[in-house]
Amino acid sequence: PAGRVSHVHVLSGYTDANGLAEFARDADAVTTEFENVPAASIATLAESLPVAPAADAVAVCQDRAREKAHFEACGVPAVPHAVLTSADDLAGVADDLLPGILKTSGLGYDGKGQVRVGTREELAEGFAELGEVPCVLEQRLALAYELSVILARGRDGATAVLPVQENVHVGGILSTTTVPAPSATPELTAEVVAAAKTIAAALDYVGVLCVEFFVLDDGSIVANEMAPRPHNSGHYSIDAVDLSQFELQVRALAGLPLGEPQLLRPAVMLNLLGDLWFDGPDTPQAEPDWPAVLALPGVHLHLYGKTEARPGRKMGHLTVTAENVEAARTVCERAALILGLDPVDDD
Ligand code: ADP
Ligand code: MG
Repeated sequence: PAGRVSHVHVLSGYTDANGLAEFARDADAVTTEFENVPAASIATLAESLPVAPAADAVAVCQDRAREKAHFEACGVPAVPHAVLTSADDLAGVADDLLPGILKTSGLGYDGKGQVRVGTREELAEGFAELGEVPCVLEQRLALAYELSVILARGRDGATAVLPVQENVHVGGILSTTTVPAPSATPELTAEVVAAAKTIAAALDYVGVLCVEFFVLDDGSIVANEMAPRPHNSGHYSIDAVDLSQFELQVRALAGLPLGEPQLLRPAVMLNLLGDLWFDGPDTPQAEPDWPAVLALPGVHLHLYGKTEARPGRKMGHLTVTAENVEAARTVCERAALILGLDPVDDD
């Protein structure tokens, strides 16, 4: 979809030397909004152009084991876990990590590359099912709620932070984001922002970074993962903040002042997954009733221009802005009803 609105579109493999050279020739500066671009390709481009975030920082974010080690080195607790590089490591896994979630260290997103395991037997099966690639086994935590912090950091170390987001995931995929975060106290908000800033600074990070946090019942925080790019939980910033995460990305890349993002209105973002394009398992793809949704107050609809809808595929999102979070949530629930889904149905 981005190719359709770009001035220049280079289509080649991420590691194709000719493609990278052509890309470098046309670009003044380079960034990425996808974390699985091979770090080596980012490093190649950085030889001739300003590139942010840097390959080293992206490489940490691409690997769950390195990511968790980085959190801990920053004094931020990570989810209790074990690193598994081969089947030989399975026997050494501590009992208290089960029941757990086995996740591939690389290339996972939207809950892909993850298996829930309750027993040692399921752990061994899950590791085999994931192809015996490097994995982390995480303890399955009882979450009180989830927050994310999106910040932009410039080359001079200046940092701008979006208002903290509260996120609800359904089946491992982000469903809704609410801002201001209804469950977080000001102290807890300050704590996650400080943690995210420490994590970014220790990476010498330049660009937009999202750090996801779990909040546990006792009010303690645990860093889940981070994304070296604008993040789905920041999409509301297009409509509800005076500086969106995308503008922050451009400013950080171009070495411009980052400014101080201000929330214009409380917002609830609802993800629109491909499931909405189908009435049932064997029905043809059909466009949801957007006019009915847009008739509701404060609805901002964003469709990404992906032609093929698939269950679980992110096709777009809508952001509801309103006087307060309650009002935004009420409109969001009405939109969800029109679209035939229940946005607050947490797993
Ligand atoms: P992805 O890269 O697909 O976003 P995450 O690791 O962030 O993967 O997992 C997606 C969601 O699954 C989380 O936001 C959370 O809701 C749930 N989840 C993941 N890991 C755990 C865990 N260890 N304990 C409890 N819930 C988890
Ligand atoms: Mg995540």
